[in-house]
Amino acid sequence: MFAIRKETSQVCDCGERADGVSEQGSFGERVNVAELQKLFEVEVSYSPLKPEAKIRDLVGKFVTFVKSSGETWEDGCVADNPTLTKAHRRRRVSSIRHAPEVYSFNLSWPLLHPKSSLVLETMISLPEKFDLKELASSEGQSSVVYTLKGLVCYSNNHYFAFFRRIFHKIGYVVGSDHKRAEAVASLIKHREIQSHNEWLLFNDDSIATVTDNWPGVIQMCL
Ligand SMILES: [Zn+2]
Repeated sequence: MFAIRKETSQVCDCGERADGVSEQGSFGERVNVAELQKLFEVEVSYSPLKPEAKIRDLVGKFVTFVKSSGETWEDGCVADNPTLTKAHRRRRVSSIRHAPEVYSFNLSWPLLHPKSSLVLETMISLPEKFDLKELASSEGQSSVVYTLKGLVCYSNNHYFAFFRRIFHKIGYVVGSDHKRAEAVASLIKHREIQSHNEWLLFNDDSIATVTDNWPGVIQMCL
């Protein structure tokens, strides 16, 4: 359900490639927030946009960062073509063979108490939806869209979690159960169902609805 299995290939800019190194599966993509922050520094400091637009511009950068951190460039051609060393550059590309049902990211923070501006930038950079294609650098990556569903936080020796609950509001569906199921499936397919979100905060034995939108969750984490 959570296992991420990546396969890496080496591709040279001359077109040569060496395929198929399987990487060990993991239960969460590790993300080094200190490295991610370096990207924000470049994006925010040198951006000509106004402050608010600069922040908005960070949405999705998280995914770009994860993709680029798996891609490395080296001099020389691919391994089975060792004579072609000069003026060839090869890069590692990765693909995710089986889309896990749940894609989880494991964010490692550089400090126990990060500045709230760093928390804000990091959380804004997380998109509410992303495609598996955006995470993998291989061109043949199949497309699977994920929606941000939850966030488990550790702070002050304490765990708490935010999870999204989606209600589907269906206009008018009648008929037998079978017909009803078919009608709902068709509405979902044609995006005629309006979704209403609720974000729940799980904290020890309390569960409370805290907001109906992701920016509301971000605000609570600052
Ligand atoms: Zn080459």
